[in-house]
Amino acid sequence: MENLIYQWPQGKKCAVSLSFDFDGESPYLWRTRNTPSNMLGEWEQRRFGPRQGIYRILDILKKYEVRATFFIPGVIAEKYPQAVEQVAKHGHEIGLHGYLHERVDQLTKTEVEETFTKSKEIFERLLGKKTFGYRSPSWEMTLETFEVLREHNIIYDSSMMGYDHPYWVDDLPEIPVQWLLDDAIFFRYTGGGPGSYPPQNPAVVMDAWKQEFEGMKRYGGLFLTTMHPWISGRASRLMELEQLILFLQRDSDVWWATCEEVAAYHRSHYPDQFRETIGVN
Ligand SMILES: [Zn+2]
Repeated sequence: MENLIYQWPQGKKCAVSLSFDFDGESPYLWRTRNTPSNMLGEWEQRRFGPRQGIYRILDILKKYEVRATFFIPGVIAEKYPQAVEQVAKHGHEIGLHGYLHERVDQLTKTEVEETFTKSKEIFERLLGKKTFGYRSPSWEMTLETFEVLREHNIIYDSSMMGYDHPYWVDDLPEIPVQWLLDDAIFFRYTGGGPGSYPPQNPAVVMDAWKQEFEGMKRYGGLFLTTMHPWISGRASRLMELEQLILFLQRDSDVWWATCEEVAAYHRSHYPDQFRETIGVN
């Protein structure tokens, strides 16, 4: 295929979108659903997100007048309605992220549908809003889940990595994520054991992210970060987040947008290009 450079609004060279997966303890609850654990450590560590991390992140975003996108499992809205209301009150976009942070590849289609029905109802009630974008828990997707997205009138998906700018998965805008711009691969640490590495220095991670940003400008990409309040709400990482925002705001080549705005732009400006039919062969 021709190597087209994606064109952004106002002649900007790239788009920047900050996203937060406000998971709290939900992945832990999902993982231990059949074998309830008496271990409180990770549970409490994750609760740091809805108790403190989220509010510190909201403060920083407010200070720099950045609107972001928060993907939130339904159960977090049930457990921490005030935190979720604050996210909405600050003008951020809220997207769906499962009910209990279920891995969709481990569910039947009916079970996937139930997570949508349940979480949509919670957010509709809480926010008075009816249309939502979606990010799959753990960034795993199935063909059946894409069918469910269409049946539930979801306006975009943000779980896949097939391009580094928006594209179409059948008739749905895909707002692509990538592992390099996820805080979890650098900082997620819930104790020792095999395969467990100490968290990295936030300054080193920010340096890598800044390099990726420079590359995105060259190739017309979407610089979409994914952070988790229970991970990036920690003190030194927040200071680096602040530095990252300052760095990005100094650059006049950036179009800032929420994921919903990126999806709307893609719909209106690229109705025919970057179309992919997804499949497993
Ligand atoms: Zn998540």
